Amino acid sequence: MSDDTYKLRTQVMDIIYNAKKYAPDLPRLDVRVGKASGNVLGSARMGENKIWIDVNKIGKKDLVSVVLHEILHAVYSTPHDKKCDLMSPELRPMSNAKAYQTFGQYITRYKNRRQNEAMVSNAVNE
Ligand SMILES: [Zn+2]
Repeated sequence: MSDDTYKLRTQVMDIIYNAKKYAPDLPRLDVRVGKASGNVLGSARMGENKIWIDVNKIGKKDLVSVVLHEILHAVYSTPHDKKCDLMSPELRPMSNAKAYQTFGQYITRYKNRRQNEAMVSNAVNE
């Protein structure tokens, strides 16, 4: 592993650690770092808990929003949303505080949806 790759991985792990404050049940993520071809900043396998981050994002101020965006795809199968700065398909500059705050809102919505689904399935099983 090169120095740059190691540094990026450490930064990504720090962001995931912070993300757990909003999503305590965040599953273990398979994190890959590497060089992207073209304009891709990162990618995720929907619902497979795998994220991949471009080495060229090291130290860039957008790293937090890119990682949180990919976690929302990978863990929660969150689709793109052009009306949301965090889940827009194009990178939009935002503060780290705003990125974590938006991430927290998605997690709350996800939990509420899961709770509703559980209530519906309990009602059906009764
Ligand atoms: Zn995306």
